[in-house]
Order: sequence, then structure tokens, then C-alpha cells
Amino acid sequence: MITLLYIEKNMIVTKDKEGGRMLEKQTKLLKITAFIVLLIIYGTHVTDQVQAEDNSSKKVLILNSYHEGLTWTKEETEGIMQTLNDEGRNISFYVEYMDWKNHNSEKNLDYLYDYYKYKYEHNKVDLIMATDDVALQFALQYGEEIFANAPVVFCGVNKESAEAITKGESNVTGVIEVVDPTETLKIASEINPSLKNVYLLYDNSESGLSTGNIAVTEIEKFNPDLMVESWNDLAFEEVLERARSLEQDSIILITTYYSDATGKIFDMDYVNREVCAQSSVPVYGLYDFGLDRGIIGGVLLSGRLQGENAAKIAGRILDGEDPDDIPISAPNSMRTAFDYNELQQYDISLDALPDDSEIINKPFSFYETYKTLVLSVVAAFIILFVFIYILLFYIRKIQKMKKNLAENNEELTQLYEELTASDEEMKQQYDEIISINEKIRLSEEKLSYLAYHDSLTGLPNKLSLYEESKIIFSSKDLKAALLFIDIDNFKYVNDTMGHVFGDSLIIKLGERLTELLRYNCYLYRLSGDEFVVIWKDMAQTDRVEEYATFILSDFLTNFELLNSDLHVSISIGIAMYPNHATDLEELLKYADIAMYQAKDTGKKRYMVYDQAMNEAFTERVSIEKYLQKALEHQEFEVYYQPQLDIKNNCITGFEALLRWNSPELGKVSPMKFIDVAEDTHFIIPLGTWVLHEACGFLSRLEEKGYGKMDISVNISILQLLQEDFIDIITDALEKYQIEPERLELEITESILMESFERIITKLQILRNRNIRIALDDFGKGYSSLNYLKQLPITTLKVDKSFIDYITDTKEDDFVSHIISIGKYLGMCVVAEGVEVQNQLDYLIKYDCDKIQGFLFCRGNV
Ligand code: GH3
Ligand code: MG
Repeated sequence: MITLLYIEKNMIVTKDKEGGRMLEKQTKLLKITAFIVLLIIYGTHVTDQVQAEDNSSKKVLILNSYHEGLTWTKEETEGIMQTLNDEGRNISFYVEYMDWKNHNSEKNLDYLYDYYKYKYEHNKVDLIMATDDVALQFALQYGEEIFANAPVVFCGVNKESAEAITKGESNVTGVIEVVDPTETLKIASEINPSLKNVYLLYDNSESGLSTGNIAVTEIEKFNPDLMVESWNDLAFEEVLERARSLEQDSIILITTYYSDATGKIFDMDYVNREVCAQSSVPVYGLYDFGLDRGIIGGVLLSGRLQGENAAKIAGRILDGEDPDDIPISAPNSMRTAFDYNELQQYDISLDALPDDSEIINKPFSFYETYKTLVLSVVAAFIILFVFIYILLFYIRKIQKMKKNLAENNEELTQLYEELTASDEEMKQQYDEIISINEKIRLSEEKLSYLAYHDSLTGLPNKLSLYEESKIIFSSKDLKAALLFIDIDNFKYVNDTMGHVFGDSLIIKLGERLTELLRYNCYLYRLSGDEFVVIWKDMAQTDRVEEYATFILSDFLTNFELLNSDLHVSISIGIAMYPNHATDLEELLKYADIAMYQAKDTGKKRYMVYDQAMNEAFTERVSIEKYLQKALEHQEFEVYYQPQLDIKNNCITGFEALLRWNSPELGKVSPMKFIDVAEDTHFIIPLGTWVLHEACGFLSRLEEKGYGKMDISVNISILQLLQEDFIDIITDALEKYQIEPERLELEITESILMESFERIITKLQILRNRNIRIALDDFGKGYSSLNYLKQLPITTLKVDKSFIDYITDTKEDDFVSHIISIGKYLGMCVVAEGVEVQNQLDYLIKYDCDKIQGFLFCRGNV
């Protein structure tokens, strides 16, 4: 309805703005509506009243012993009324005050009797609630006369009084007031453990004494050591005086005090306030009306609770229960309560109080007041915060994850881009690798080719031979021939024509040998001027020999090389697999030995290996080995073979002959070691040494008075080819002060012819310096007379082999011809190896100039 009114009112306000007519209409409507509402409210009220009258048939008289306004009485009355009302009854209360504390007299009782009789004789009450002793007594005494035997329920009466008053009475019940200071003292002892004295304040009224005595008894029962002093015999001034000077081990306990020992009446509130204000110690109480009037508190008897408990019993009686069936009881009417201000004054902590204590006058504490709410809110906030925290944590986590994801995504994108780039790069690199691989493959092929081929001729090389030999010589069932080919006197070609020319010759020779290869023949360049032909599956030596002959014959044809027409010969050594050797190393060695043998026996030929060759070879190898150190170890000696001038029959000079007495090999023939010295070029220092020895010998002879003798020294063509050869000769002559004409250099005919071109100039120079040149072993070679004529030769030496032909029995024309030629060319002719007289005779006969030999000198000087 109120809502409706409100709406209507609003409407009026709205319509009012719209104009008068409209307002009029709305006002009319409002009036009608208000009328209807009032009707409804009235209807409802009448209905409620009818119902209340149905229930308000109960009348309850609250008969109080004391006056209106007394806190105790007021509390009891309110407790009764509130409880009965709260139980849903509609009760009419009649409250009366007998004012017994102020008018404690029979007269007052008489007045009250009259008054109540007048008032209630014809106004029957359903129940009397009697508070405290006098009211109970009055109600019981005049119950029948004034109150039509209404049941009586009492409160505020102690046990003894209740028993005394209700003795023999019926239709009465109630709750008794139990005075017990024990709990209060317990708390006081807890607060102040040194408590020793209890000062009890009560008055001398009937109830005061009764309560006081009970209190004394209970205190003594609680703790007999406590000193209990009652102040009921003191005037109020004395009470205050005592209270002011109490020791700290004391408390005051107030029960009820409405008058002092002089009979002076006091207001209880005043008493409480004064005593508490003046007291030097805490003042505890027995009744809760002392609270907020100065007492500190305690476990207090509550008038309100007394009233409530009694009202509960009254309710039962009003509901129809018989009062005699309800025994007098003593329900708990105590409350543990303290005054916060007083506690503060005596510096007593709340913690010292029981947990369920009520604290009055406590400053408002929102927390305390709304503890549950606050805690709930706090808890809710905590939960909320936790939730928010968790939420934030997850949000952060999610954000972090998002960030990470974004970063990862970025990284991945970058990576992807890098990968794409790398992919491109890799493709490029792959292509590069492919091309590099191709290059490597080609290089490898090239390297392999270079490794296995001779760079000069392009022929397979030694390594190739070794590799292939693994297959060729893998089984003794297989047969093969090895031809070891070496160019004759190639060093001379190099020395005379130059190295480049020599290279060209090697290439040409390789080409020619390739042309001459037969089926199953393979050519290799081993090294220098050495070539090897392997003839696979060949076991017949004679066929190999025939092949060697074929090759040699082909070499009769000259080489056309760099505008030169060159005759080149080769020597061939042959070894057969597996007859001679079972591995390549050995086979090469034997073929080499055979080749050397071919060289040794005059070159331009082939030789097939046999055992004897090996021995000769071994000898040569050992000569080569010891020869190098022989000069240093002074193992050489020079012998001097005299040369006799036939016409004058006197010694004109000597030929220096080299001898080697090796500690390891014994006496080694010059035939053997000179060759080796030539091959190893050792002949160059050795020849110089001989020259110096010979010159020294001449010098010594001269010193010894033998006059100026000549000396012939054998010179190797290798020495002659040396750049400094002329200097070496000049130095030796100067050193020993030998006149150049006394020195004769002997050069072997065959070599001289081969190197004609290169040495002729040097010979000419030497000759111009008066040094004589002898052609050694004349007749053994194939010297062209034309050459002989061009050479500055002064002496012709006839080889011993020709002299040997001159025997006792026959004369050989050959020697005489040689002598003739020599003479013809204006040379001095010297015969070597003259051993017998008829040889000398022969030589004299044909006008030979000089001789050497055992005939006139068996030993050498
Ligand atoms: P022999 O008749 O005893 O074989 O005497 P040779 O002069 O041929 O001497 P030998 O075979 O012992 O020496 C071969 C020489 O070939 C030695 C070296 O100076 C020369 N030589 C080695 N390799 C090459 C090359 O590649 N080119 C040239 N031009 N000469 C070389
Ligand atoms: Mg050679």
C-alpha cells in the first residue's frame, strides 16, 4: 500500500507540471486511492484487535518488594515482561511496588493491603510474579483474599527465605536467588595472587544480613586463609574511610547496602559509586546492578536473569501447568561481567579474565563488535587476494608464455628465414662442393696419373712398375722377362750437349722403345737413362735375346735431334721370372747386373743374367763402397814406371801409375777401381791427387839431383771436361815448379774420340802452354786419322796388347804401322809393356822413340 501511495504521489507531481485539469483529475484519483488504503488499514487493525482480545485473557501482576526505579527491581520486572512477551502471549501486566526498602513498616503493609484489595478484588489476575521476599510473603498471605488464589511465581528470594515463606503453601513456585561469591573470589585470586583480605559490605536489613552471612560462609569455604571482615556494623563514613586505606592484598565485596549501621538510608547506586571511588583496592560485587556504578565486576547475580527464569515458569503455568507440579528451582542467574574502565584503573588485563566474560564500557571496537563479520570479510578478502594472486600469477604466467611464444615465434621466424637462407647457401655450397669434388677428382686423376707416370716421357714410371708387378709377379706359374735398358755414355751427352738436349734424347728414346714394343710388352722409365720392358707370359730366353738383338739393331739408326744426327747405343740386361728371381726387386737387380755386364764388356749389347755376374757385381759394389774413403785414408799409392829413350838409352821420364791397397779388399786392380771411380766421378779428385803426387815426385827427384825428368799422368775425360781443369794443371805445375813441357797428360783414345768437340779447345790451350798430350792405348779405339791430325797430340802410346803380339817367332806389322803413323803425324811414339828383348829390337828397328816395361825395369819406382 505504501508503495502504491508513493507511486500515486509521484504521479501527482508529474501531472502537476502538465497543467490544472490534469492535476484536478489526479487529486481526485489520489483521494479515492487514499480512502481505499485507509479502509484496508482499518480493516487489518480491527482484525488484529479481535485476535488480541482472544489472547489477552491473561493478566499478570508483577508485585515488587521494592520501589520503582531500584535497578534490581527494574531488571527483574523487565526480564519477566520481555520473556513472557517474547513467548508470543498477549498479556496484560499490572506492576506494583511495595517500596519496602523505604517503608519497612506494618503501616505500609496495611496501606498496601487496602490499596491492592481495592484494586484487584474485582480485577482478577491470572498469575502473580512476586519479586523478593516481602512481595512473596504478601502474595501468599493475601492470595485468597485479594488475588482470588492466583498462582504465585517468585524470584529474588534466597533458599532459606523461600523455604521459610513457602512452607505449607501451595499454588506457589519460583526460582531462588543463590548468593555465591566463590567464582568471583576465584577470579579475584587469579587477578591478584597475593589476595589475603576480603572486606564485605552489606547492610543489616533482613535480606542484607542473610546475603552477608551466606557470603562469609562461602568465602571461608572457598579459602579459609582469607581474612573476611564484614562492614555491616560501620557507619557509611567509616566504610569509606576504611576503604580508602586498604592494602593491595585486599578487595571489597559489596552485596546489598541500603542503610548503614546508624539506620541511615542510602541509594544503592550511590553506595556503589562512593565506595568504588574512594577505595584503594578493586571493589567486586555480588549483584549486577553494581555494574557501571563503580564496581570492577565479578560473577554477578542478575535481576534480569532471575526475572527471565521466573517468567519461563510463569509461562508454563499460564499455559495450563499446575504450579505445584513445578518445583522451586535454582537455574543459573549469574553473569560474569566486568567494567572496562575499572579494569583499566587497576591495570588489570582482559587476559586475566575468564574467556566468556562480558566487558562493559569498553570503547567501541569495530573489530570486537563485528569480529565475525570482520574475520569473515578478512577471510573473504584473503581468499579474494589469494584468488586474485593466483589469477595474477596465472595471468602473468600466461603473459610470460605469450611473450615466450611471441619470442619463440620470432626466433622460429628468424630461424626459418635463416634456414631458408642457409638452404640457399647450402645449395650453392653443394654446387660448389660438387664442382670442387669434380676438380678434386680430376686433380686426383691427374695426381694419380702424375704419380704413376714419368713427367718427362709420359711413360709409366717406377711406381707404376711396382704396382703392376704385384699382379705380374703374383704367382710363380706366371712367366715374364725383364729387359733393363740403359743408354750408353748418356752422361757425356748431357755434359757435351747440355741437359735439355739430354731430356729430348730421353723422350725420343722412350718413343722409339715404345715403337719397338711387342705384344704383351710394357715399357717403363725407371730413372735417368734407364728403361725397363716387361714381357708378360714370356718364358723363352732365346726369344727375349732375339728381341734384345732386334732393339739393339734398331739403335744402329741415328737419332735426329735438334738438328743433330746422333748415334746412340744402349746396353740391355735380361732377367727371367721366375727362373732368376721371384720378386720384382730381385729381378730388377739381376737385370741391372746383366746390364752392367753388358756395359763392362764394351756396351752396345745385351747380356742375360747368370750367377757369375752377380759375383762380379758384388765385387764392384764393394769397390764402390770402400773407394770413397780410400783417398782420405791414404790407401792410394803412385808408382812411377820409367820411360826409356831408345836412341839415347836413358830414362827420360816416368808414367805415374795409381795403385790401391785396400785394407778390406786387398790390392785392387786399377782396371777395376778406375772404372768405378769414373762412374762415380770420384776420378776427378783422385786424378788431381795423382797429378800433385806426380809433380811432387818430379820435384823431389830434381832435388835429389836426378835432373829434369818428364812425367806422364793419366787423365780421365771427366777431369778434362771440368771447367777448372786447366787451372788445376797450372796450379800443380806452379806449386812444384815443374816446367809445363815436362808434364804429359795421357788420355784414352776411345774417350777422346767421343768427346772430341768439347775437349779440343782445352787440349789446344794446354798444348799452347807446352804441356804435352799423349794418346793412351792407341790402336784399341777407332780413331779417325783425320781427328788425330786435328788434335794437338804430342805422343802416341802403343797399347801393350799390340806389343804382346811381338814374340820371338813373329813380328807384327801392325805395331810398325802405328809407329809409322805416329811418326808421320810428328808425334813421339811410346811402346808400353815391353817385356822381352826381341820386342825392344823390333821397336828399335821401326824407330820407336821410347819404351816402358819390365824389360829394363821390373819394378816400379
Ligand atoms: P754408362 O754408359 O755406363 O751407362 O754411362 P752413362 O754416361 O750413361 O752414365 P749413367 O747411365 O750411369 O748415368 C746416367 C746419367 O743420366 C746420370 C745423370 O746425370 C743423367 N740423367 C739422369 N736423369 C736425367 C734426366 O732426366 N735428364 C737428363 N738430361 N739427364 C739425366
Ligand atoms: Mg747410361
